[in-house]
Amino acid sequence: MARYIFVAGGVMSGIGKGITTASIGRILKSRGFRVTAIKIDPYVNVDAGTMNPIEHGEVFVTGDGTECDQDVGNYERFIDEDLSTANYITTGRVYQSVINRERNLEYGGKCVEVVPHIPEEVIRRIKQANHRADFILIEIGGTVGEYQNSLFLEAARMMRLASSRDVLFILVSYLPVPSMIGEMKSKPTQQAVRWLNMAGIQPDIIIARSVVAIDEPRKQKISTFCNLSKEDVISAPDIKSIYEVPINFEKDHLGERILKKFKVKKGGNANLQDWQRLIRIIKTAQKPVKIGIVGKYFETGKFTLMDSYISVIEAVKHAAWANKRAPQITWLSSENYEENAGSLKELQQYDGIIVPGGFGGRGVEGKIKAIEFCRTNKIPYLGLCFGMQLAVIEFARNVCGIKNAQSAEFAKKDDALVIDVMPEQKALIAEKKYGGTMRLGDYKCQLKTKTKSFQAYKISNIIERHRHRYEVNNDYRDVLEKNGMVVAGVNPERDLVEIVELPSHPFFVASQFHPEFKSRPLRPHPLFREFIKAAMNER
Ligand code: GLN
Repeated sequence: MARYIFVAGGVMSGIGKGITTASIGRILKSRGFRVTAIKIDPYVNVDAGTMNPIEHGEVFVTGDGTECDQDVGNYERFIDEDLSTANYITTGRVYQSVINRERNLEYGGKCVEVVPHIPEEVIRRIKQANHRADFILIEIGGTVGEYQNSLFLEAARMMRLASSRDVLFILVSYLPVPSMIGEMKSKPTQQAVRWLNMAGIQPDIIIARSVVAIDEPRKQKISTFCNLSKEDVISAPDIKSIYEVPINFEKDHLGERILKKFKVKKGGNANLQDWQRLIRIIKTAQKPVKIGIVGKYFETGKFTLMDSYISVIEAVKHAAWANKRAPQITWLSSENYEENAGSLKELQQYDGIIVPGGFGGRGVEGKIKAIEFCRTNKIPYLGLCFGMQLAVIEFARNVCGIKNAQSAEFAKKDDALVIDVMPEQKALIAEKKYGGTMRLGDYKCQLKTKTKSFQAYKISNIIERHRHRYEVNNDYRDVLEKNGMVVAGVNPERDLVEIVELPSHPFFVASQFHPEFKSRPLRPHPLFREFIKAAMNER
C-alpha cells in the first residue's frame, strides 16, 4: 500500500523544493523503502518540450521519451531510479485527458466541471504512478497562494480527506534574514501556512529554508503560530553542495518524523554511507579540473542562468568527483566567438570543452569555431547532441573540404546537408506538429570495439536517451570516415550515426544522444568519466 507525501512551496520560488523532494526520496530509500516521485507543473503546456530553456530551465528526457521538468532529473539523480511519463503531470496533460474523455462520452452525460473532475484526474494520475512504491512523493510546482496550483492543492486535500493516514503535507518555506535587521524572520512563513490553511490543508512538517540554520526560538515561534510541533520544523540552511541535503535532513531527524507520522515501525536506520563518502570527496577534492561549456541559453539580463544545462553540469561534477577532482565550470558564450575571433584563445585555459544540446542558428558559427579550436589544439572535447552535429559540420568543412557543409535545421538553398532532417520528421514539421514529436528517449547503440567509446563503456550494446529531429546524413559517412572521423556507435535498427570520434586526438568524442541524462552522483556516466580523465591527463 502506497503512502503519499505532498511537497508544496511557500513565500517564493527557487528555494529548492525539487532538491527537498528528491532528498526526502533519498532518505526513505536509504531506509529500505521503495520510492518514487512526481513533479506537478501548473503550466498549460502539455510537456516541457515546447518551452525555451531560458524560460523554464533544462528539458529533461526520461527513458520513455517524456520531455519533462528538470526536477524529474533531480529525482532520478537522488533516488537513483529511472522515471517515466507517469512521474510528470501538467495542467495541460490533466485537461487534455478530461476533455478527451468527455468527447468519448465517458462521463455518461454528466456536466463535466472543473471541480471535482479536474482534481479527480489529478488523483487518478498520482495513484497510478507506481503500484509498487511504498512512498510516492508529489511536488506541487509554484508557490502556495498562486491561482495556478490551487486545483492541485485541492486534489491533495481530497486525498487526505479520503485517507488521512496515508497522506502527509510538507511545506518548504523561506525565512529571510534581512541585512538591515540581521534577524531571521518567520512572518512570511506564517502567511504561507495561512494560504495553505485556506486551501483546507495543514502542513505536518515545515522545511525551514534560509541562509543559516533555524534556531530554537524561531522553531518555537513557527510551532506556535503555524500549529505544529517544534520537532516538525526542519532546519535547511544554504549549503555548498545539494548532495549534502539528505544528510542535513537526517541530522534533524526528518526520516524519523515522517515514518512516525505514518505510524511505520520499520526502516529505523538510514544507510547513507556511500552518500557520505561522496560528500567527503566533494569537500576535500582540491585539484581543479576546468571545464568550459560553450552555449547560449544562460544569459538573462544581468543574470546568468545555470538551469538550462543542469544535467550537463551535474554529469561533469559526478565525473570529476569520481576522479577525485574539484569541478570548475565556466560559461562561454558562443556568440562572443563570432564577434571576436581573437577571444577563441581563451579556450586554452580549460582542461576540456563541452558543446551541449541546442536548437536554431543563433550562435552556431561561434560553436563551430570553438570546436575547430579544440580539434586543432588537441583540447579534450565532448559534444552532446547539437555538439555532435556541429562537430561533424566542422570536420566536413575544414578537413573534408566541403565548404558549404551545414545542417538542414538552418541551411541555405545550396548548402551540403551533412546533417539532415530525419525523413519521418519532414511531415511533422510541415504540419507544425512540434510537441513531443522529436526522436525522444531510449534507443539502442552498437559500439565499435577499439574506440574510446567502447573503452569507456566496456560493452558493445548500450541504450541512451535522445532528443533531436536532425541526424548525420549517411550519404556523407564515407567521406567523413575516409578523412579520419570514426563512427564509433550506430543505431542498429536504422543505421543512424550515434557517436563520432577522432582517433588522432587525445579525446574528441561526440554523441547524438544525451549521456548527461543517465549520470548519477554515485555512478558517473562513462563518457563524462573518460572525458574528465582525458582533461586531467592531457593538459
Ligand atoms: N537541434 C538539433 C536537432 O534537433 C539538436 C537537438 C539537441 O541538441 N537536443 O537535431
